[in-house]
Amino acid sequence: MGLNLALRKYFSIGLNLAGLAPRFWEDSSSYFITVDYHYLSGHEITFPTLEVSRDILDKQLNFMHRNMHVINPKYFDKNFFLSNQSKKSSILVTIDDGDSSIQENFDLFRKYQIPIIFFIPFGLCLEINSRDGLMSRILRSFFEIEENKLSNFQVKEDFFKKVECASMEELKLIYSELLPLRDNIDPISNRALLSIDVLKEMAKDPLITLGSHSMSHPVLSGIPEKWLDWELTTSVKYLQMVQGDNKYFAYPYGFKDSINNNIKNKLKELGVEYAFSTRSMAATSNSDSLELGRIGMLNFFNRRYLYGLAGRAFEVFDKILLR
Ligand SMILES: [Zn+2]
Repeated sequence: MGLNLALRKYFSIGLNLAGLAPRFWEDSSSYFITVDYHYLSGHEITFPTLEVSRDILDKQLNFMHRNMHVINPKYFDKNFFLSNQSKKSSILVTIDDGDSSIQENFDLFRKYQIPIIFFIPFGLCLEINSRDGLMSRILRSFFEIEENKLSNFQVKEDFFKKVECASMEELKLIYSELLPLRDNIDPISNRALLSIDVLKEMAKDPLITLGSHSMSHPVLSGIPEKWLDWELTTSVKYLQMVQGDNKYFAYPYGFKDSINNNIKNKLKELGVEYAFSTRSMAATSNSDSLELGRIGMLNFFNRRYLYGLAGRAFEVFDKILLR
């Protein structure tokens, strides 16, 4: 286990044990925390920061069900802080990346009646023989070649223009040329993502709200204007197609520098009201609703850890690390 991972686990427990988690000095109705899952697993864990096993998930959801006020995103709005009467800490549960393991393990969310926002990178869920599907995989592959990450905006813009104007035959050729050059493949590219048809079915579930997570899952602050516009507007188009909720968006990667005012303004124009980062911040009535924080859930169950989490222990942790 990496030092950082171990620290994150025991920091929350320690803070809670020492009575230092802010929970003890703050009214729990004045904030809520949002947590974030990616992949679920029936057996071994391959990605310790992204994956939670089924038995641990069962315990975590049971804990939330018994001890916390779980927010339903279908009925969430700006009046939350005025209308929240719950004495328990409030939690909003989100899942990123549209992975098929979520559908396979969704019975556990049903068992404890935990509603979720499921953030979908739509382009990677489309069939590869559709134009937007192939284009998204090409744009994803571009950033899986290490040196392309460092290229300037002009190079990226020229690349996007070339892809946008290409015929299907040309796109297939571009993709086959890019694939062998990838030297830093993101886990998302090796996962089985849910199809648009399955997502459409899932969106009918009263516990599932779909939100946008872009098309090709790039660092949005690292792409030129036209590319950014395409990522946002096209993903919202597909979100509407599957009956998702336009007001929710999650920034791919979601670290501090992946978000800026230009992106936020574009999201606002598209009707997005709540956009989520991956920085460990609780939401209060003063929070920027287009830059809400989230805490990544780990494959770990300990009641004190979850009480610490509910009490905003991670916020302190992030501050100490100056994240
Ligand atoms: Zn993601």
